[in-house]
Amino acid sequence: MPRKKRARKMLMPPTIKGLSVTGVRGRKSNQMFLLLEEYEAIRLLDYCMLNQEQAAVLMEISRPTLTRIYEEARRKVATAFVEGRDIVFRGGKVKFEENWYSCNNCKARFSDPGKADIHCPECKSQDVEFLNDSFT
Ligand SMILES: [Zn+2]
Repeated sequence: MPRKKRARKMLMPPTIKGLSVTGVRGRKSNQMFLLLEEYEAIRLLDYCMLNQEQAAVLMEISRPTLTRIYEEARRKVATAFVEGRDIVFRGGKVKFEENWYSCNNCKARFSDPGKADIHCPECKSQDVEFLNDSFT
C-alpha cells in the first residue's frame, strides 16, 4: 500500500504564478508544471543556499524525500530551459504557517491580519485575494 503523503511545510506562496519563455514566435509553449514543494525545494537550496538537512527540517520532511523532490524539480526546470517551455507553479501537497493575501488594488502581499474583516494594511482595500490555495 502506498504511504500517504504528508503536507510539506512552505513559508509563503510564490510571488508569481510561473514564468514564460521569450524569443519564440508563433508557437504556443507546452507548459511544465512545477509542484509547490518543488518550487520550495529550489528556493531553499538554490536561492537561500541552505543545505539539504536544513531545508528538510524547514519543510518537515525526511532528507531522502527532500532529495527526491529536489531532483524532480531540477529535472523539470532543466527540461523547461532546454525545450523552451513555460513553467507554471501548480499543485503539490503543501501547508502554510500563516494565511497569505494579495491586495487586488495595490498588489501588496500580507499575512494573517488576525481580523474577521480582512483588508490591505497598505491601502485599506477590502478587495483581497486569498493566496494559500490559489495554486491548486
Ligand atoms: Zn492594498
